[in-house]
Amino acid sequence: MARFRIALIQVSQETNDFNPVPTRTSDFEAFGLFHGVEVLSIKHGQTGGFLSEMTGRADIEIVPILRALATAGGRLDKEAHDYFLRHIRQGLESAGRIDALALHLHGACAAEGVDDVEGAQAALCRSILGPDVPIVLSLDHHGVLTEQMVESVDALVAHRDQPHNPFETGQLAARLLMPMLEGKTQPAMAWRHIPMLSHQEQFLTSGGPMKQWFDRAREIEGRPGVLSASTFPMQPWLDLPDAGWAALVVTNNLPELAQELSQELADLAWELRAEFQHQTALPVDEAIARAAALDGLVVLSDTGDTVFGGTAGDSTVLLQALLNSEFGGKALVPVVSPKAARQLNEAGPGTNVTLEVGAELSGFYDPVEVNGTVTAIGGGPLDIGYDQQPIVDFGQAAILDTGNVTLLVTEKRGVGGNLPAAYSVFGVEPKKHKIAVVKTASNFQYFAPIASAVVRADTPGPGQSDLKSLPWKRLPKSLYPWSED
Ligand SMILES: [Zn+2]
Repeated sequence: MARFRIALIQVSQETNDFNPVPTRTSDFEAFGLFHGVEVLSIKHGQTGGFLSEMTGRADIEIVPILRALATAGGRLDKEAHDYFLRHIRQGLESAGRIDALALHLHGACAAEGVDDVEGAQAALCRSILGPDVPIVLSLDHHGVLTEQMVESVDALVAHRDQPHNPFETGQLAARLLMPMLEGKTQPAMAWRHIPMLSHQEQFLTSGGPMKQWFDRAREIEGRPGVLSASTFPMQPWLDLPDAGWAALVVTNNLPELAQELSQELADLAWELRAEFQHQTALPVDEAIARAAALDGLVVLSDTGDTVFGGTAGDSTVLLQALLNSEFGGKALVPVVSPKAARQLNEAGPGTNVTLEVGAELSGFYDPVEVNGTVTAIGGGPLDIGYDQQPIVDFGQAAILDTGNVTLLVTEKRGVGGNLPAAYSVFGVEPKKHKIAVVKTASNFQYFAPIASAVVRADTPGPGQSDLKSLPWKRLPKSLYPWSED
């Protein structure tokens, strides 16, 4: 038997409380649900990164338990939440001797009646493994850190970049875990809650205040005795009483240093609080005019309906505005519309149809009547080379050519048209378009190789930048920017 047996679990979903559509186990199946040895085939994401660090180590046996991943969305229904707890329990209890656990979760997952899904999962793992088995938890930095998460694990690390590099986060988790397991380090963690929230327009780590904050964490990691530093700019769509940003530092058995440095990181975020609120999104008509005036293919970000931020993808705001506009080029627009996707598939390619699309799911929008020609139908699981999971299930899908819009209508959210491959799999050439509407406010990396610019449109929806007008019920209004101090 190998010297160390390391259990491996990944369950990852980001919840948006303003998307009323529950996330079910079938939403995880759309990205592939992997159990037991199947997990070892994963080459992507946190699990892929963690496994890559274990290659060639004869002293390690990986005990793969579960790998589940879904697009961000509404809260998990009770069945999905129970499903993961059950499989984590069964997996760990039947695994035999376990010397350590690598736990890859999200951090911003909530379920019906359960605010802290990751806390519950981490606490369950701890209760099964006992107090002495090292657990390293890795998270998306948009998570909301809780006492239960931190107290259930020995060390914790989050993504270093937005757009994220989950593969690297898996590697970082392995590099925290291995020395601990070999008795070379003894992690001491401390964290600070930061009483603020911000819209996502300053979330990229390539510049602005977010770069300044994350750079400080990297600098802190270079100081003596520090094992890891993580910054958590929580995503602003979870309606929780303990919402807020956080900073966490792991030292090698230096608890006071961890306290001091997590405070330093928290203080810096607080100093930069006004800069994080800076908005760049333009009113819809202005955004379209600006995109039309720029050279080359321009990405038009639908900030309010950001599928990667857990919205339903059913907005018709930019679709309607483009159809109404003077814009004479051609725009790629995605919309999640299960009924319309079925109707278009029944109509078939080459047919001229008039139908209503969009606004079936979130309650934020009105449907739009469109007339056009169906140019492609299909869907199901399609290989679009998505770095989180290459094959993504679109459900039924179709392309409708309508006015100045090439409309991608899908039953499932998939990747919300955020990858050019979501169009090219249907024979559409993205480069022949002038505008590409994307359902993300940050993940422009997929279109970047063929796009010349990004314009953010200030659109309404569960991911909107105007946080104050979202229907919050439980969020403490003592948070900045609701309260100034
Ligand atoms: Zn994230």
